Amino acid sequence: MKTSGLITHFVYKFKQKRAKIIFINTNIMARGLIDCHCHLSANEFTQDIDDVLLRAKRAGVKALVAVTEGASEFEKVILLSKTYPGFVFPCFGIHPLQGSGQDLHSVNIQDLEPFLPLFQKYRADIVAVGEIGLDFTPWFANTTQERDEQIKVFIKQLEISKELDLPVNVHSRSAAKVTIDTMKELGIRQALLHNFAGKPSVAMEGVQAGFCFSFPPAVSKTEQRAKLIRQIPLEHICLETDSPALGIEKHVRNEPGNIMICCEYIAKVKGISSDAVMEVTTQNALRLFSKLKS
Ligand SMILES: [Zn+2]
Ligand SMILES: [Zn+2]
Repeated sequence: MKTSGLITHFVYKFKQKRAKIIFINTNIMARGLIDCHCHLSANEFTQDIDDVLLRAKRAGVKALVAVTEGASEFEKVILLSKTYPGFVFPCFGIHPLQGSGQDLHSVNIQDLEPFLPLFQKYRADIVAVGEIGLDFTPWFANTTQERDEQIKVFIKQLEISKELDLPVNVHSRSAAKVTIDTMKELGIRQALLHNFAGKPSVAMEGVQAGFCFSFPPAVSKTEQRAKLIRQIPLEHICLETDSPALGIEKHVRNEPGNIMICCEYIAKVKGISSDAVMEVTTQNALRLFSKLKS
């Protein structure tokens, strides 16, 4: 009698604790949006990052996954995450295209190798490896040599993600099939393919492998991605702004506060409520970037 009373007490306590945990989780999931791919360390945000993040908060953003394109941004995203703890979450990655404007060129292994120790040094701080990937746009990567070098840099960073047990935040342009095949061959399980523009059949191979996909505000201007978004199950979709790029207006700076545009567009294409998109995409983001929960 005494023992069963004790067991009942523990079962009750356990249920109470579980109910509390579930309550906390649904609370985060129901009310917040997560920008899974933005460039907060970009020069465009240097002057007014406080205001940008305040507007994001007001727009309902609960967390931002801040990716990098080059090693010069690594310390910057770490600093941002320390300044805005629990709001800005940093990633390290070397983008397949380096430089800017006239200097934009395909990546070399030298753009990554000297900085490998930083991935180890900040392994406890970073939530993903990214932005990494492949960009085979002909005017940037026209030769087999350039493309092979990009693949080499991509594979090295996929290996780092496995070693550090972190998800990857991936860019893929004119290289959809190679990107997904390379990730599958390396046994990558946790991945976000941002602004994916490949064929729906190739995207579905990614879905089969467990990958997620996200789309920035710019895609809502045309119907080009509608077919792709319709086919990808909502359980494999996340939200992103890719700020400061890929906003609604080409020459106007994009910012995380615009995230509802993505949410509403996905809802429209799928014929469901934006509340449902918000809730499920946030659950997906928390599953994928599991360090956001801590
Ligand atoms: Zn990208
Ligand atoms: Zn990006």
